[in-house]
Amino acid sequence: MTDAVRRLAELFLSARRAVAFTGAGVSTESGIPDFRSPGGLWDRFDPSEFTYRNFIGSTDGRRKYWELGRVTYAVIRAARPNAAHGALAELHRLDRLDCCITQNIDDLHQRAGLPADRVIELHGSAARTRCLACARAYTRDEVHAWIEASGELPSCPACGGIVKPTTVLFGEAMPVPAMQEAERRARAADLFIVLGSSLVVYPAAYMPAHAKHAGATLAIVNLEPTPLDAQADLVIRAKAGETMTAIIDHVRARLLDSPDAAEGNEARGRQPVP
Ligand SMILES: [Zn+2]
Repeated sequence: MTDAVRRLAELFLSARRAVAFTGAGVSTESGIPDFRSPGGLWDRFDPSEFTYRNFIGSTDGRRKYWELGRVTYAVIRAARPNAAHGALAELHRLDRLDCCITQNIDDLHQRAGLPADRVIELHGSAARTRCLACARAYTRDEVHAWIEASGELPSCPACGGIVKPTTVLFGEAMPVPAMQEAERRARAADLFIVLGSSLVVYPAAYMPAHAKHAGATLAIVNLEPTPLDAQADLVIRAKAGETMTAIIDHVRARLLDSPDAAEGNEARGRQPVP
């Protein structure tokens, strides 16, 4: 274990409120390709055909979207949570993680055991859909089953409205409640750790800056440099999975060995998020 990783593990032990922020790098370690990377999906498909406007505005736009979705969602559905997802879920169980703000849409934090109310999805979820007319929710699995059975575009069984994944499409507004919740929790954090994000997609990438400006210690774990490295207190150029495995091992061992660390919960004086 490097000194930097040990230092980050100790920060998780001493923090009152740690918040994680995950990006595409965490998903690629589960085998989900980064659709924005060279050779990725948007090199083979024209993003301008998959905009929010095209989805809402034409049956042809929706047909193309769901055809592409058969391919992309199958990849997401088959992926399994990796060591980074598992470590974050365990840190929460150990009362060392407040929540995870994520740019990912793959539901893998929840599937690793992090409670759904502790996962703030800035770009929505590929696993859930909603009727745009009556707001009823359907799982993506249900919707794909309808498509397979009927060969038709999916429509809401209750009202006939257009059913759309909650994923934020090109040209679609960010979900305001998720953005507000993420900003509130980022500002309340005393430790903010970025995992597998190059911090180039805004406004999501403002979150670590909010945390830092509000006084949090900022740690960045990413293979590539990010625009916020100069502001970070700790930068670790490594994969999220191997880093978080070392961190959770260290945290677990310290909690077993040291009553001081185990008693830290009371000493750290939890307060509700303002
Ligand atoms: Zn409906």
